[in-house]
Amino acid sequence: MPGSTTQVSPLALLGGSKAVDIPVDDDLFRWPIVTPEDEQAVVAVLREGTMSQIKISKQFEAEWGNFIGTKFNLCHPNGTASLLGAMFGCGVGRGDEIIAPSLTYWATAMPAMALGATPVFADIDKQSICIDPNEIEKRITPRTKAIVVVHYSGHPCDMDAILAIAKKHGVKVIEDVSHAHGARYKGRMTGAMGDVGCFSMMASKSFPIGEGGMLSTDDRTIYERAIAFGHYERMGELTLPDLRPLAGAPLGGVKHRLNQTASAMGRVQLKYYPERIAEIQRAMNRFWDLLEGVPGIRAHRVPPKSDSTMGGWYNPLGHYLPEELGGLPVAKFIAAVNAEGGKTGRTANKPLHVHPALNMPDIYRDGKPTRIAFASRDVRQGPGSLPVSEALAERIFGIPWFKKDKPELIEKFALAYRKVAENAKQLI
Ligand SMILES: *Cc1c(COP(=O)(O)O)cnc(C)c1O
Repeated sequence: MPGSTTQVSPLALLGGSKAVDIPVDDDLFRWPIVTPEDEQAVVAVLREGTMSQIKISKQFEAEWGNFIGTKFNLCHPNGTASLLGAMFGCGVGRGDEIIAPSLTYWATAMPAMALGATPVFADIDKQSICIDPNEIEKRITPRTKAIVVVHYSGHPCDMDAILAIAKKHGVKVIEDVSHAHGARYKGRMTGAMGDVGCFSMMASKSFPIGEGGMLSTDDRTIYERAIAFGHYERMGELTLPDLRPLAGAPLGGVKHRLNQTASAMGRVQLKYYPERIAEIQRAMNRFWDLLEGVPGIRAHRVPPKSDSTMGGWYNPLGHYLPEELGGLPVAKFIAAVNAEGGKTGRTANKPLHVHPALNMPDIYRDGKPTRIAFASRDVRQGPGSLPVSEALAERIFGIPWFKKDKPELIEKFALAYRKVAENAKQLI
């Protein structure tokens, strides 16, 4: 009944009964889904004692490459390591700049500082909350080496515009796909459109293998440089003449090998991943379809019947428009929805550009804050410089991350949001 006003009890926050008034099945939210097949795969590695070998990881890489559509795939112990390897792979180094969104997890940008490069932050688009291509282009300088984009909360970035800008200026595109495994942009797979894709596979992400990460690329040079940086055990595979003689000692002085208990789990997870995210997709779209036309809240999603998708809908969010609800602050909205049993919260990252760690410490004793230690100018961005990112916290809320498409339960959860939005006046 889009748009109609629901006749229900008073708000739970004001003493009424809860919208979610039936028991919630355990499997509605349980993640990761671990079955005896995952357990057997992990136990087999333990029994064989092959945790530190790479045979199973290589099988997982080949299967992952089939799924994403990339030729070269390299397991990492976490997503952060895959981003560091990808940046080195793209040639990011001392004095270079990378452009990244400020609204993201720190690992999207901070590995650049370990390489002597300077993160420059761009604002986000209000609707997608992904990096805004216009914001990228005006920040490109001769020193820009790479753009790191994040398909935030599963929403694909505007890749046509981003790839066109990158091509025009000759800079690399690193896709941070840690929120969007399996999401498609106009039919194309996220992680396979830029020069290299990086995926966190930690236990809470939509593709969960414990702690783990993957680097995926069609570019042999990026792949080989990532091996040379942190995979000493694979350096025998190198073919590039400047890297080959270095075999046996990783250039980064780091060890980026994944524990095979995780890659064994990854092989099992991948078998079921397409069907699991198809169900998540149905459930999440069902939830938002029920809320079409409700004032003050809007879906953060791609059009449901398009050739783009939200992958596993990691960290799903809604847009909050307080101006449609008499100015009700989002914190109050969240408290009221939670009182209904609606499982919301504040879940977007805080902007990085104003974080002290990115602006103050001289981590490597270069005599300057590390972010600008080798920069040609002070690129630090103060409060007010990225207004959309900075205002987002008051305009966004978390929604339940349904793993199962159970209409009766999803309708109850949707009612919690509808009830609060339609009765917002009572809270002011
Ligand atoms: C989780 C995450 C990472 C880092 O991955 P880890 O596996 O935790 O190291 C990088 N980027 C984004 C956007 C993330 O959400």
